[in-house]
Amino acid sequence: MSDDRRAEPLEPLETAGSLGALDAEQRGGTGDMSPARFREAGHATVDAMADYLARVRDFPVMPPVEPGSLRALFAPAPPEDPEPIAAMLDDVARLVEPNTTHWQHPGFMAYFATTASGPGVLAEMLVAALGANAMLWRTSPVATELEEVVVDWLRVALGLPEAFGGLLTDTASTSSLIALGAAREAAGTRAAAKGIAGRADVPRLRVYASAEAHSSIEKACMTLGLGRESLVRIATDDVLAMDPDALSEAISIDRVAGLRPIAVVATLGTTSSTAIDPVGAAADIAAREGLWLHVDAAYGGAAAVVPERRGPFTGWERADSIVVNPHKWLFTPLDASLLLSRRMHVLRDAFSLVPEYLRTLDRATPVLDYNEYTPVLGRRFRALKLWFVVRYFGLAGIRRRIDAHCAWAAELASWVEADPDFELLAPVPFSTVCLRARPCALAGREDAPEVRADLDDLNERLIEAVNATGEVFLSHTRLRDRFTIRVAIGSLHTTRDDVVRAWEILRTEAARLAADGTQGPAGT
Ligand SMILES: *Cc1c(COP(=O)(O)O)cnc(C)c1O
Repeated sequence: MSDDRRAEPLEPLETAGSLGALDAEQRGGTGDMSPARFREAGHATVDAMADYLARVRDFPVMPPVEPGSLRALFAPAPPEDPEPIAAMLDDVARLVEPNTTHWQHPGFMAYFATTASGPGVLAEMLVAALGANAMLWRTSPVATELEEVVVDWLRVALGLPEAFGGLLTDTASTSSLIALGAAREAAGTRAAAKGIAGRADVPRLRVYASAEAHSSIEKACMTLGLGRESLVRIATDDVLAMDPDALSEAISIDRVAGLRPIAVVATLGTTSSTAIDPVGAAADIAAREGLWLHVDAAYGGAAAVVPERRGPFTGWERADSIVVNPHKWLFTPLDASLLLSRRMHVLRDAFSLVPEYLRTLDRATPVLDYNEYTPVLGRRFRALKLWFVVRYFGLAGIRRRIDAHCAWAAELASWVEADPDFELLAPVPFSTVCLRARPCALAGREDAPEVRADLDDLNERLIEAVNATGEVFLSHTRLRDRFTIRVAIGSLHTTRDDVVRAWEILRTEAARLAADGTQGPAGT
């Protein structure tokens, strides 16, 4: 990779010769790019992709651009006449690459780091070439049946029982929306047919999730007509996990008030701090109360591919539905979310609608039409990229990579703990480390109001300084009202050296800010 690196992306493409001119089809035809042209342009495009990946480390992770400054780089009006493909490829190198945030950069440790892995990208190209809309079995039989296969591969990889079926959606937001739509139907509301607005026979519905649950759960409540107020946020304990006693109590209070609980959402790996809700206790409560249990393991679920790391997941096999995002920590290009459920027929009750023009007439036996399980009709052939990713790395290779990320995160956590000027702000069960600078002079006084504000301010300036280096990109959250820096390790491009470097940058910048601080407020 490194020998192939070029710092300057502006050289004209070597192939510009023929691709720099229009061909007859483009000038006057009524058809698509010819196969020969496609082949030539395709090779040049793959070269551009490989060049980008080879030199991605040389870009600042976040482009140093101001909001609104990019539009002017692009033609304000669409071209009347055809342009050669070389012009577009050159513009990608010139205008697009320098102005994107580089998610494939080894220093990308913000949000949840992901990887559009090589096999995944290649599969996306093949899928695009097939151009299939997999809305029905008959509109691409293999898309449907390969989806059944890879969904089951992933189920096995995650150590879940055969009772789980599933499907692939675009995002965890959609997967959780489907799960809660099913929960609403399972509660006997017949909401798919009758709606829930203005129904005297349907009390206000209630969904329970921890205070740390992802906003997508709340958004699903908005979208499903339950309203944000239907989501009851349950208190968390000292490790930011849902308190099951508080959950039980909230459910009883609502029952007494005449409200109808329908679902509990347990998060295994919260977005802020990767906290793990006690899913076994949540399953007990859901079973006792007759509620749907949905498990949001969008990020953390990937760790269950490693049998030795399944401890925190014990009990998730009792869930009604589970979401794990392969586009987060399973090295699959966006978009790919896995929704598993042991009650697939309920998902179908909640979302099936088959107008005459979609009815399959030519089959005696019913076929699986995945669109009946989702709010959308059109479907991408997402199974192919998972089939590529799992086969290319093998489960053993995936486990090795996830293990490495967890090990590096544990190492980083140990360096933070050993440094008197830093502190960990949450346990590190997966590959994400929540930390902050806390100069040793302030140790023990963290909770004094003025110290609190100073530490928030210091860490805000620290993350800005770290990100301004362009070598790493970190994001933040607030944990127990403390400004918290998150280091999320999860990219296949990241090495242990990159983690070491990120820590070195954090320490250097913190020391520099401390030194500036002692010289008064000058400087930036
Ligand atoms: C990232 C995340 C989501 C949202 O995922 P999308 O695929 O972007 O919708 C939901 N839940 C958790 C716990 C997450 O970390």
